[in-house]
Amino acid sequence: MSQTVRSVEQLNWTPTSWQQHVALQQPHYEDLTELNRALSELSHLPPLVTSWEVLALKQALAEAQEGQRFLLQGGDCAESFADCTSPIISNRLKVLLQMSLVLVHGLKQPVLRVGRFAGQYAKPRSADTETRDGITLPSFRGDVINGPEFTAEARRPDPQRLIRAHAHSALTMNFVRALIDGGFADLHHPEYWDLAWVEHSPLAADYRRMVTGIGDSLRFMETLAGPIAGFTRVDFFTSHEALLLHYEQAVTRQVPRHRGWFNLSTHFPWIGMRTAALDGAHVEYFRGIRNPIAVKVGPSVTPEQLLPLIDALNPEDEPGRLTLIHRMGHAQIAEKLPPLLDAVKHTGRRVLWVADPMHGNTESTSNGYKTRRFDNIRSELDQAFDIHAAAGTHLGGVHLELTGEDVTECMGGARDLSEADLQRAYKSMVDPRLNYEQSLELAMLIVRKSGR
Ligand code: PEP
Ligand code: MN
Repeated sequence: MSQTVRSVEQLNWTPTSWQQHVALQQPHYEDLTELNRALSELSHLPPLVTSWEVLALKQALAEAQEGQRFLLQGGDCAESFADCTSPIISNRLKVLLQMSLVLVHGLKQPVLRVGRFAGQYAKPRSADTETRDGITLPSFRGDVINGPEFTAEARRPDPQRLIRAHAHSALTMNFVRALIDGGFADLHHPEYWDLAWVEHSPLAADYRRMVTGIGDSLRFMETLAGPIAGFTRVDFFTSHEALLLHYEQAVTRQVPRHRGWFNLSTHFPWIGMRTAALDGAHVEYFRGIRNPIAVKVGPSVTPEQLLPLIDALNPEDEPGRLTLIHRMGHAQIAEKLPPLLDAVKHTGRRVLWVADPMHGNTESTSNGYKTRRFDNIRSELDQAFDIHAAAGTHLGGVHLELTGEDVTECMGGARDLSEADLQRAYKSMVDPRLNYEQSLELAMLIVRKSGR
């Protein structure tokens, strides 16, 4: 353990000290006895990850800060209990693995794979209530809190869902670990990749060359060095927005070996844009856990707000501790990002900069769908690389909303999905995701952009 990290006593913090602060985006539980019973049960269940995995990820993120690794973080906007199925989990894993191989091959750099899954069940909402036909009910806040159906029963925040969310996270995690251990990520078989999409893509030739290239270089290395077992196994880490603080508190455990507290429901929790106030409950909770953590940074954040946040969350400037995920929107990034990069650079503080090109580019169509245009997502990413290069800072990763399914939620991409296509397979309960083809195409474009 690093000598510089403050002890728990010095922190003056407990897993429940967030309750003394203003907690935004929390449900209102009516029956506190029922809530406390669920929290007590949750706090006795075994953890989903271990502290040594968490610290290994922190070390890897420290290397990404130094430009030695690239972070690929992605998954659904919101997981749902109904989507905790074999095909959905394995297809999501597959697209993330395939994207990571495109990046490894193209960037000539190890890629750190982090899923937005096994716990991504709570969502911030713009309004506490929703009204339909004169009836007002609590908003749907994610499966860990209430149900999406518009009935009083479904929308009631139900403490039993805390236990169900933990169980579904564990099922997801178990399956992902089994797939990876079982050779799902075996690089010897790149021909298993679904290549149908390239027929539609201007990047088809590049993509075919790359798939062949991965196979060839692997065979070449094995001729020289014998079987490379490491290539059949890949590390995979999990992350989610740690929004529902009662849940996070109950999965926070003291690990005596490391003299500290860890959130052991996920490797890499993050604070969403709407709950990142310096004096708020989320920052209070996060400052006390030893996990690597991330904060979403939107266009309204000023250097005067960002620097104290860095101080609060990483007072000792610990390597790998803090990732800042900027999500400005393609139209605003050129104006909003440079002052933040300059200010942080000036302090000499260590952060990992990551681009989320999704959340600043959400729009509604005339036929009522929430969507994002592939070209705007791409433009924000392209600009992010250029802005970091000009500032002398390093863009060390991307954060994406995607699925392995053939959905039609984002417009554009190789098949140039239009507004009319959205109704065909729009399945997201919350934000629109890149589909399988659009995700792989974006990975190819990242490689092109980086010019390696
Ligand atoms: C999200 O990641 O789904 C989200 C709500 O993002 P943000 O906090 O950046 O708005
Ligand atoms: Mn989202």
